[in-house]
Amino acid sequence: MYSELTDEERRRYEWQLWVPDFGEEGQRRLKGASVLISRVGGVGGAVAMQLAAAGVGRLLLAHAGNVRLDDLNRQLLMTTDWIGKPRIESAARRLRELNPHVEVETLGENVTEENAAGLVARCDVAVSAAPLFSERFLMNREAVRQGKPLVDCAMYDLEGRLTTVQPGRTACLSCLYPESPPNWKREFPVFSAVASTVGSLAAMEVIKVVAGIGKPLAGRLLTLDLRDMRFATVPVARDTQCSVCGSCSPVAPPKA
Ligand SMILES: [Zn+2]
Repeated sequence: MYSELTDEERRRYEWQLWVPDFGEEGQRRLKGASVLISRVGGVGGAVAMQLAAAGVGRLLLAHAGNVRLDDLNRQLLMTTDWIGKPRIESAARRLRELNPHVEVETLGENVTEENAAGLVARCDVAVSAAPLFSERFLMNREAVRQGKPLVDCAMYDLEGRLTTVQPGRTACLSCLYPESPPNWKREFPVFSAVASTVGSLAAMEVIKVVAGIGKPLAGRLLTLDLRDMRFATVPVARDTQCSVCGSCSPVAPPKA
């Protein structure tokens, strides 16, 4: 979907319109796009902030719970005056302050079996930024089933991981992780600088996928370790036996 830009939008986005292969065409594509973000905490909050700044037309955010004091070291959409009140309201308020042109839709729940299909159906690109593998697998399954691109991003300690799933063309999250890593926990060591780095990289992936520029991490996994500043990209092959995207899977998309 393409949307014409107003003069005010041309001024707001002027510095990114200078990116040669992006330009007005890329900006119109961003304006016409809907992006779902599963959780807007440390990582997903950075994704949302970057995409709002860049001018994605519609952000659909899912995140449960109320702001806690110990969210504030990393969840940059949450504010001290909002402690005890819904996180999703704080996130939406901050994003609207940053860019009132962006339509922000909120759901004060995390992604579940009940809501995943409906949420993914309403987006052009999905971003999975939840720490729990159960939610990330759900997003992956629905994205593959519906043929929607999915950016999966995660972090732990000073490390991050990122990949982009293009259903029917590339490995999916379940090809990469056939089962939940057994030691994964909901609470983990984190600096905002690491979460925001991973979230910003994921936002760049979304911008590239929507605008059709650059080379997304399709079929590749980016690993980063900020303790010694090591970045690596490794190819990820599709698993033909994958329970989600393999040839025998009930949810596998039609062959591209
Ligand atoms: Zn797969």
